[in-house]
Amino acid sequence: RAKRALTDKICYYDRSMDEGRRERSALAIELRHALDRDEFELYYQPQHDMKSGEVTAFEALLRWHHRERGLVAPEEFIPIAEENGLIIPIGEWVLKTACAEVATWRRPYKIAVNIAAAQLTQADLPRIVHETLLATGLAASRLELEITEASIIEDRERALHVVRQLKALGVTIAMDDYGIGYSSLSTLQIFPFDRVKIDRSFVEDVANDSASAAIVRATILLANDLRIPVLAEGVEKQENFEFLRAEGCAEMQGFLFGRPQPLSEIASLVGRESRPAEAPRPSTPGVR
Ligand code: C2E
Ligand code: MG
Ligand code: MG
Ligand code: MG
Repeated sequence: RAKRALTDKICYYDRSMDEGRRERSALAIELRHALDRDEFELYYQPQHDMKSGEVTAFEALLRWHHRERGLVAPEEFIPIAEENGLIIPIGEWVLKTACAEVATWRRPYKIAVNIAAAQLTQADLPRIVHETLLATGLAASRLELEITEASIIEDRERALHVVRQLKALGVTIAMDDYGIGYSSLSTLQIFPFDRVKIDRSFVEDVANDSASAAIVRATILLANDLRIPVLAEGVEKQENFEFLRAEGCAEMQGFLFGRPQPLSEIASLVGRESRPAEAPRPSTPGVR
């Protein structure tokens, strides 16, 4: 009987693994068509400056509207896109779309765009960024690129070279998901980061978990000494907000301040000019 139960369990386990794999390859195939089918959309989440209390920037976060599956989360499809190389064209779409969009806003918010490791090590990222800025007319100082520790551990020299080229264009660079990767403390000294984003996993329980608190406090101290502003991501609870503020965290992003939202929801906040193709102007009264 015990043996039987064990076999059942093993079979079940195997089948579910198979299913997971099938699911992933199905998604991978459909992901290839997502760009052509125009199934991607950018959501925007505000980043708040503690000193002024105001929104200073928005992070562009990718969403995939699948015809049958509905909204697929980036955690599900970004890893697949990274595996099969699709992250390169998808990432380029994100960059171009975000810059084109933000260039039409009347209020000069910054836009933060996530850059995958493969995009950073790809030789022509600085050229693509440069051309995108020229094509959209967006000032370089309004674009921030978020890179992760994964981008810089493989080939540090190369990553540093690309980051310097990007900075020479006038864009700023943020270290995303800080603390969960493998880079050493000296990374903050060597790389010319304009911002450090503390990973959500440390923030979500910072007011109650002493280990998270220690890591967050140490990161803020270190970054402040190096004159790098710290942004805490995933600030959901009031108690965590208060802890972070007391510790001198300069910027925050999280559901407490605002969720990632489609463009239509933030249009009035950002002073979005409606474009003729989307909103035809009503004909002038009195004429005709
Ligand atoms: P990330 O860059 O660290 O983005 C922050 C994530 O935390 C977003 O998840 C955001 O919705 C979520 N978040 C923000 N505040 C809160 C909060 O208070 N509570 C909770 N529970 N979550 C919060 P999202 O949009 O699902 O994206 C997940 C990850 O997918 C991103 O993490 C990023 O690594 C990746 N990603 C998203 N868009 C892109 C993209 O265009 N390119 C690349 N390469 N990666 C992307
Ligand atoms: Mg990010
Ligand atoms: Mg992050
Ligand atoms: Mg994160």
